[in-house]
Amino acid sequence: MSRVAPIPLSEPFIAGNEWAYVKECLDSGWVSTAGSFVDQFENAVAKIVGSRYAVACTSGTAALHVALRLAGVEAGDEVLVPAVTFIAPVNAVRYVGAEPVFLDADDFYNVCPGKLEDFLRTETVFRDGVTRSRVTGARIAAVVPVHVFGNAVDSLPWLDLCRERGVRVVEDASEALGTRYVSGALAGSHAGAVGDIGCLSFNGNKIVTTGGGGMLLTQDEEVARRARYLTTQAKDDGVRFVHGDVGYNYRLTNVQAAIGVAQLEQLPRFLAAKASNYARYERGLATIPGLVLAAGPDYATNNRWMYALQIDPEVYGETREELMARLARAEIATRPLWHLNNWQAPYQKCRAYRIEKAPSLLERTLTLPCSVGLAEDQVDRVLAELIRE
Ligand SMILES: *Cc1c(COP(=O)(O)O)cnc(C)c1O
Repeated sequence: MSRVAPIPLSEPFIAGNEWAYVKECLDSGWVSTAGSFVDQFENAVAKIVGSRYAVACTSGTAALHVALRLAGVEAGDEVLVPAVTFIAPVNAVRYVGAEPVFLDADDFYNVCPGKLEDFLRTETVFRDGVTRSRVTGARIAAVVPVHVFGNAVDSLPWLDLCRERGVRVVEDASEALGTRYVSGALAGSHAGAVGDIGCLSFNGNKIVTTGGGGMLLTQDEEVARRARYLTTQAKDDGVRFVHGDVGYNYRLTNVQAAIGVAQLEQLPRFLAAKASNYARYERGLATIPGLVLAAGPDYATNNRWMYALQIDPEVYGETREELMARLARAEIATRPLWHLNNWQAPYQKCRAYRIEKAPSLLERTLTLPCSVGLAEDQVDRVLAELIRE
């Protein structure tokens, strides 16, 4: 029996100058955190995102950790985070000693803007320039909106409310490189460049990868300076090793940045490939009752990082688990949505505010293979498996 090649969920696409640039690092000996590719990578990202400063970090999680510190989040504070997202931004809240408060999702898997606004208006008191929880009295120091699956977060009017009330906005745009607002007050802005600080990830399954890496985005020179300082062990004197703060070893290496520079050169092509496969899935799914591809908001473009399939089990005749198992037998990798963050062991005792939609999104969502290098006949093979006999 001849076996077809397995189709992974998402794998990196290395087809540009990655080898050449990495070789340049190795040949020159500039393999560590100093080197011209780190600067080039930061400048290229800043240009794409429209952010004045970009600070390269070892991971998206590291960028989020430093961003929360620079947003002034302190031990005992509370930070509003989504129930639906990869756990990294929630863990980062705990790294700084703060407590997450979980918010529900909207139709685009993002934090529900209405509930976020309601929370700020009804669950907090604003006094002496500080927003505090009515329940615990703790300061609500920040909110971390996440642009899930490349869907830009619907930002108004809670964004203005946060500004008025001293609540800092740390955007997690890890999944949204290439996503831009096209209408409304934020038209023209890139995801990750609308809050106080933005973060990106270049993990292996992101649209652009450095193997592992991240970026902190800011318009503020002082925040950028502090970010560089904290990510390099807060060194005041590099000869005598005098340190003025508790820093981190969070700086991206030149080798990783070299990969990133080469990957970014191919971003337009990556975005086009993702969009074209999305459209092919969408056309194929139109004839399969009970399955649709999750749509994105019309106020923004979508980088089509991940394709979220929504299943109506009544109509389709199979649950998410059954479909996932069947596709696995056909060597097609899929994933459910992340287990909700408010259900995760470290966070079960944290406050969860009106989580109503998130469980149903989890129940009916399965993400489909979405690699940049996914061939049309592979998309067709997935579609063929999705058709129930
Ligand atoms: C990938 C990701 C991160 C960061 O991941 P790293 O592996 O630390 O780079 C953070 N938030 C979200 C939403 C992500 O998808």
